[in-house]
Amino acid sequence: MPPIKIDHLAVVVDDMPAALNFWQQALGLTLGGTEHNEHEAVDIAFLNVGESRVELLKPITDDSGIAKYLAKRGPGMHHVCIAVSDIEAAMATIRANGVELINETPRTREDGTRYAFVHPKSTGGVMVELYELKGQG
Ligand code: ZN
Repeated sequence: MPPIKIDHLAVVVDDMPAALNFWQQALGLTLGGTEHNEHEAVDIAFLNVGESRVELLKPITDDSGIAKYLAKRGPGMHHVCIAVSDIEAAMATIRANGVELINETPRTREDGTRYAFVHPKSTGGVMVELYELKGQG
């Protein structure tokens, strides 16, 4: 089953109001939702663009993975998220092709959706997130 679509592009930001000024006000994307995620230590804003979204990630502590990424590399593109209909099948195919996953098993969000990350060293420097959209594709 081929992937469904680009679900979202994620961007790490150091200033959420400034980022929203660009993506929402200047570019004209609509705000789809915001989330204060204590578990991942990030503030998240989703902006809708067609069937895809832009995800803005702002660290809220100094020691989260996203905070370390921001300190090391500065603001910018963080990952591309590809929606798939069967995440376990997609992960098995990735593994069978000798590509390294960051998550050996899918992780589960609070809303029950499952996701996993592919290691950027196996993808030419692009962090890829797989996201399971049930009942599609
Ligand atoms: Zn994401």
